[in-house]
Amino acid sequence: MSHPRLYIPGPTEVHPDVLRAQARPMIGHRSTAFAELYYSVVARLKEIFLTQQHLFILTSSGSGLQEMAVRNTVRPGRKVLNMVAGAFGDRWHQVAVGNGCDAVRVDLPWGQPVRPEDVDRALAAGGFDAVTIVHNETSTGVMSDVAAIARLVHDRYPDVLICMDAVSSAGGVRIPCDEWGIDFLLTSSQKALALPPGLAVAVVSERTLERAREVPHRGWYFDLLLLDKYASSGRTTPATPAISLLQAASVQCDRILTEGLEARWARHQLCMEMTHAWAQEHGLDLFAEPGYESRTVTCIRNDRNIDVPAMIAFARERGLVMGNGYGKLKNQTFRIAHMGELTPAHMEELFQVLDAYLLRD
Ligand code: PLP
Repeated sequence: MSHPRLYIPGPTEVHPDVLRAQARPMIGHRSTAFAELYYSVVARLKEIFLTQQHLFILTSSGSGLQEMAVRNTVRPGRKVLNMVAGAFGDRWHQVAVGNGCDAVRVDLPWGQPVRPEDVDRALAAGGFDAVTIVHNETSTGVMSDVAAIARLVHDRYPDVLICMDAVSSAGGVRIPCDEWGIDFLLTSSQKALALPPGLAVAVVSERTLERAREVPHRGWYFDLLLLDKYASSGRTTPATPAISLLQAASVQCDRILTEGLEARWARHQLCMEMTHAWAQEHGLDLFAEPGYESRTVTCIRNDRNIDVPAMIAFARERGLVMGNGYGKLKNQTFRIAHMGELTPAHMEELFQVLDAYLLRD
């Protein structure tokens, strides 16, 4: 069945085999069949995320795990630092405030990365239990050097837990989270993993679980200790999980591992380079500070005063769906995602359509 192809930064294209897997008959979530499914997906996701730490699969979108991070890592009387350089950094701050955390936000200009020195300056005030950072700001197309930030935090603030939103990068970019020492990594299913929305994945360090033991009100649905109690005793999840999505995840993990992680990351990189070259050919600059461009989504400055909604509509009529700028960047920028299932041939098709539009302009 032909359908409009998605070049938006999530949800992304889902392979037909993965879509079909969702139509399998239901199984009970306390059955052996489900336990096999759950733990086999956990094992393959650990391979994909290069981790040997705890990994939980939640029936939630990524925002839920932003909530899980702040609920489980910040003790009473302590603070959380939210680094904000775009809409999803801001989301994390809203989530922290909404959960009653003493949350300190540091705002950085959109388009810039979060830098170690910004984090250092803020943490120097003391009293922090955790810092939240968005690895790949989907609203600005900026990827921060979280490895460098994590080194700084480990060296100078060893008790501060590092919580990283990798919603739009995990699965498309190499993120050695154990090597970097990330305490809490979260991602959603509908981005570079190329699954339907509805699942979220958390990679959690042992010291995060230790910290959770010192936090009295962790809620219930996102209580890490409860989740760990079930997962580590063979009982999978406390609540009924999205079984059909896990069936889909099982097929998709196999597809990802069959492609090969290196090949997958290289494909994302190549599609990014093609997108940069296309923008350059048309005299369009990128929104991201040079050196910090996202490998999964390119945010392009509308320097030529293009009628962005008209261009998006033109592409849509030809079966290709691309993204406008996010929030306050709408029409001033537009976004081309190159994540998940998209290949260089798909990117070429989009560029031909956009070229046709710009020639008419
Ligand atoms: N963080 C980032 C970087 C995102 O791009 C998004 C969604 O686009 C989110 C968080 C929120 O994720 P979800 O929509 O899965 O809740």
